[in-house]
Amino acid sequence: MPACYAVFGQPIAHSLSPCIHLAFAAQCAIALDYRAIETGRADFPERLAQFARAGGCGANVTLPLKHDAHLACATLTTRAQRCASVNTLRRNDDATWHGDSTDGVGLLRDLAERHAFDPRGKRIALLGAGGAARAVAFALVDAGSDELLIANRTPGRVVELVQAIDDPRARAVDWRGALARADVDLVINATSAGHADAAFDADVWAALTSRDSGTTAATSARISALAPHTACYDLSYGATASGFLTWAHAAGAIHVSDGLGMLVEQAADSFALWHGVRPLVAPVYASMRAQLAATSA
Ligand code: NAP
Repeated sequence: MPACYAVFGQPIAHSLSPCIHLAFAAQCAIALDYRAIETGRADFPERLAQFARAGGCGANVTLPLKHDAHLACATLTTRAQRCASVNTLRRNDDATWHGDSTDGVGLLRDLAERHAFDPRGKRIALLGAGGAARAVAFALVDAGSDELLIANRTPGRVVELVQAIDDPRARAVDWRGALARADVDLVINATSAGHADAAFDADVWAALTSRDSGTTAATSARISALAPHTACYDLSYGATASGFLTWAHAAGAIHVSDGLGMLVEQAADSFALWHGVRPLVAPVYASMRAQLAATSA
């Protein structure tokens, strides 16, 4: 019987992870079963235990479970421990779980390989403070960003993240502070708002995160333009990314990208952790890009 792997999350129907891992496995002539398991936070511990009892060897974890996955692990890599977020689980010999976070390195690889973007010396605005945002925040600071401005709908989560990073280059800001600055080189959307078909309206989001709870969208200062050199990147892909990317184009961004490259890169690192070999990313990325284009046509 092939070794059994899975991706856990909610929602999960959109996930390309099964296609990516099966393509890597075919490339490396490794037999495996990889399936998507729809699981919310309340059910995750039991579903993960069931998966282990059924012989599951490893798993990916996506929203909203990355912090819960970190708590489920008996052992962690240093990077997963630092960001308190796990996207890759490997079963230990004693049937406990070992956790890693490959999201940060996946983003850095995609920025370097497909966008010629080097974070060193750059000012970056990060929207979100969930599991993925935490992983990429640590990675961007470690990679030499000059300034990382982080905004989130729930401001307390940003404060906690900035305290955990404990580096003066990482700062909590409100939405307007992240988006209305002309000197930001890159804006990264690491929120899951697109999964709810929420149109990205920077002005409404600014009002949502305003420290003045009486501020409304109508009275908030408008955020309608980005500096022409400001690149925009959404960690999501497909329809989920379209709200933010449409806004980015309309706001004047010239370089705009979704997170498909990051998805394939972080998956390659998960695959390497499980199988001891890092597959070739380029052909799988090209095939996933074609698949996305075909489904959106
Ligand atoms: P998560 O842990 O559930 O965090 C969700 C984040 O989105 C939180 O910061 C949350 O803010 C914010 N949010 C949710 N709904 C919102 C709304 N309507 N308006 C504003 N903010 C909202 O999820 P995650 O694991 O970090 O994933 C975040 C996104 O990144 C997802 O779309 C996921 O698919 C994508 N992702 C992509 C890759 C890749 O490889 N390309 C990897 C990881 C994640 P609050 O704190 O206020 O709730």
